[in-house]
Amino acid sequence: MADSKQIENSFERSVFTEFFTKIEIDNKNVRVRCKLCPPATKQTYSCALNSTANLKKHLQCSSCGT
Ligand SMILES: [Zn+2]
Repeated sequence: MADSKQIENSFERSVFTEFFTKIEIDNKNVRVRCKLCPPATKQTYSCALNSTANLKKHLQCSSCGT
């Protein structure tokens, strides 16, 4: 049985922690703020802990990184 702590640890190891600040863990989802977006936007994103596809998509589709 994987508890939330274990899942959280796997997220911490993700490369996406370099680009997103973790705000909170909610069940199997994580809420993050993009480090590359201007702070003024205060936009947060959520994704499944076992899939960072949403965050990857954000980095690729938005202009926040360049
Ligand atoms: Zn961004």
